[in-house]
Amino acid sequence: MPQRIIPVEPFDYIVFGGTGDLAYRKLLPALFERFRDGQIPSGSRIIAISRRPLGDDALRGSIRTALLEYLAADRVDAGVIDCFLSMIGHIGLDVRGEAGWPELKAALAGAEERIRAFYLAVGPDLFGPICLGIGRAGLATPNARVVIEKPIGSDLESARAVNEAVGSVFAENQVFRIDHYLGKETVQNLMALRFANALYEPLWNSAHVDHVQITVAESIGVGSRGGYYDHAGALRDMVQNHILQLLCLIAMEPPDSLDANAVRDEKLKVLKALKPIGEDEIQGCTVRGQYRAGASNGGAVQSYLEEIGSAESTTETFVALRAEICNWRWAGVPFYLRTGKRLAERVSEIVVAFKAIPHSIFPKGSGLIRSNRLVLRLQPDEGVKQWIMIKDPGLGGMRLRHVPLDMSFAAAFQARNPDAYERLLLDVVRGNQTLFMRRDEVEAAWSWIDPILDAWEHSGDPPRPYTAGTWGPSAAIALIERDGRTWHEESG
Ligand code: NAP
Repeated sequence: MPQRIIPVEPFDYIVFGGTGDLAYRKLLPALFERFRDGQIPSGSRIIAISRRPLGDDALRGSIRTALLEYLAADRVDAGVIDCFLSMIGHIGLDVRGEAGWPELKAALAGAEERIRAFYLAVGPDLFGPICLGIGRAGLATPNARVVIEKPIGSDLESARAVNEAVGSVFAENQVFRIDHYLGKETVQNLMALRFANALYEPLWNSAHVDHVQITVAESIGVGSRGGYYDHAGALRDMVQNHILQLLCLIAMEPPDSLDANAVRDEKLKVLKALKPIGEDEIQGCTVRGQYRAGASNGGAVQSYLEEIGSAESTTETFVALRAEICNWRWAGVPFYLRTGKRLAERVSEIVVAFKAIPHSIFPKGSGLIRSNRLVLRLQPDEGVKQWIMIKDPGLGGMRLRHVPLDMSFAAAFQARNPDAYERLLLDVVRGNQTLFMRRDEVEAAWSWIDPILDAWEHSGDPPRPYTAGTWGPSAAIALIERDGRTWHEESG
């Protein structure tokens, strides 16, 4: 089925931090893709803002370079790139100062009625100053929206402060807290599988689901993000946002529609039903680790401490958790969550493991009957596999095999798999907040995370070492094996 283009009116995208890594690697290529597909109407504008006085031509030159680097080769078209670049301009502005704002105001003058999206692709310490600057300059028109990226705070208190600052200028329905995991095709498909099929929903509860696993594994180290990462760690960087959002979509009750608040109300209930993990549970329910030197991506790699140039840091680069949701649907079903850097491979996936059959009618020697698993893979190779038992074809008696029903969409539909940012950036223009986090969700997530951080701090235990290129500390394997389960492996 061909892609459907939902038309939008001409708009202005103002990207603060428009010359940074996020803008060059993700935002501008995503906007280019939408432009290439004819979704961005003529007259739309993109204004990149940064301190360096760059000028339009220099900016366009560096965006061209970035597009050539980050677009898939078959998407590069010099003529289309020229047209796209002609809608982009630069304004030099230090958001902490007064200069530059009048130029921005002048650039936007006369377009007060149109959709105006401010994307804050800068550090979170600048969210407040930028929103206040937008307010002072009178740029927060009724049709304006603001997009903010993680990290939204480093704990509940700081998240509230960020939300207050943003909320002092923009109403909640103008604030788009982006989590690009929610824009991924597979995450969208999770909603389709759950709510557009009668098959799964009757099984989607503690009577039939044995446990759920969510893994977000990276094979890279911290690289140039060490400064930020060392203050954050895996729990804040990955679990508080991406992993808890995925958990919400798996565990939430069916919303009455796809309306943004209907979905977000249900997600919020899940966050509030998470069983707190405090000092008494910290040993049994959490494992934190930090990578030592090892081998990754085919070569020797340094330890985390060597990478960040500090012998002292106790920041975790790996975390595994055993979470529980205290409600009727999920009571007693463990949700095992793990994420880390320098792990054995780069993979993000959700595994819904169903219960074993109650009784086998098959004779000994038929093969092990494994339980059904639904595996949603977010990266790489987005797709869904339903693992089932079948009879091995051919003669030789009843021999059973565990095989995946492969529902990989890109291959099946021969469709280009769009980057999550393509969907989300245009959702902002359309004013659709379904895939964005509401303020109370972010704060509820921190309310669950904060006691874990406190308990770790009080315990004084350092993170457990693990060798780069492995699946984390052995304690993470013990965490799930204590319950008689194992982390999912592709072989089934
Ligand atoms: P970056 O490469 O350091 O870029 C920062 C941008 O902000 C540059 O354009 C910089 O330009 C501009 N800037 C900095 N201070 C400014 C100021 N006072 N006034 C105006 N502009 C200013 O950072 P990034 O990797 O793009 O990340 C930006 C934010 O997004 C960070 O909070 C990061 O954690 C978050 N994030 C990044 C990614 C990613 O993939 N990179 C993913 C998720 C979240 P000048 O220096 O010229 O001012």
